[in-house]
Amino acid sequence: MPDRYAVIGHPIAHSQSPLIHGLFAQATGQAMTYEAIDGGADEGGFARALAAFRAAGGQGMNVTLPFKLQALAAATQASDDARLAGAANALRFDGDRIEARNFDGVGLVRDIEANLGLPLKGRRVLLLGAGGATRGAVLPIARAGAARIVIANRTAAKAEELAHELAPHLGGVPLAGGGFDALAGEAPFDVVINATSASLGGDAPAVPPAAFAPGALAYDMVYGKGLTPFLKLAQAAGAARVADGVGMLVEQAAEAFAWWRGVRPDTREALTRLTVPLV
Ligand code: NDP
Repeated sequence: MPDRYAVIGHPIAHSQSPLIHGLFAQATGQAMTYEAIDGGADEGGFARALAAFRAAGGQGMNVTLPFKLQALAAATQASDDARLAGAANALRFDGDRIEARNFDGVGLVRDIEANLGLPLKGRRVLLLGAGGATRGAVLPIARAGAARIVIANRTAAKAEELAHELAPHLGGVPLAGGGFDALAGEAPFDVVINATSASLGGDAPAVPPAAFAPGALAYDMVYGKGLTPFLKLAQAAGAARVADGVGMLVEQAAEAFAWWRGVRPDTREALTRLTVPLV
């Protein structure tokens, strides 16, 4: 019997994870299946689906919205990335143990550094938004050696609180947080990452054009939406390169796959299959 893996979320029909992991399994010759499980909208749906999957011999799961917090709560062990993010996006089952990781931030860093060819060491990085995606990205960006990280959010207090909470864990990398207007006191940024959900509603966060350094990379974590209002704003502000979040999705999947199977898949085929031109 092949080993069983799955992604759980609600809704889940749109998930690209079965396609990505199917490509990885084929390319690495791993005997495994990967299915999509809808955890439903009822309270307790996630816990029931998790228990059923484990009882049926499941070995690991990716977790997507809205269950990332519940996944961490269900874990018996969690990595620093998952604990600081307050959320898990990958689980591994070993007897009674449920191990939790969060690969979203690592996937983002890998996409920027390996796929887009921009080492983050010494860069000034601006994160827009103060939700779960930003929370998960800060530690991996600091680990990559960023010179300074700033979190800017529509609700300024949320960015201030998040910066205050995460700053002691970054090994001395400076971190600040506030509203978009506080960016007036900052030098321009080499990398500006939209980690808000504004693009999903056809909107852009109110980031000032002066925040983009000449030659900056503008990165929207949303994917499959083409050139989003944020990416258009960035281009008009002089950003030299724009990218969406499809590479982050593929790279976090590769991290989970390597953690489960002990073999790192080549991500190029999945990236080619999923990339939509940014027009
Ligand atoms: P959350 O709901 O936790 O946070 C949403 C954030 O967006 C908040 O900071 C909120 O600000 C801000 N926001 C929402 N609408 C607007 C707007 N119109 N203008 C300005 N700010 C706005 O979401 P997540 O952090 O979980 O996810 C953020 C995005 O990242 C999503 O679009 C998600 O799809 C994407 N993502 C992509 C991944 C990938 O693999 N590529 C992985 C994870 C996430 P406020 O606090 O003021 O409400």
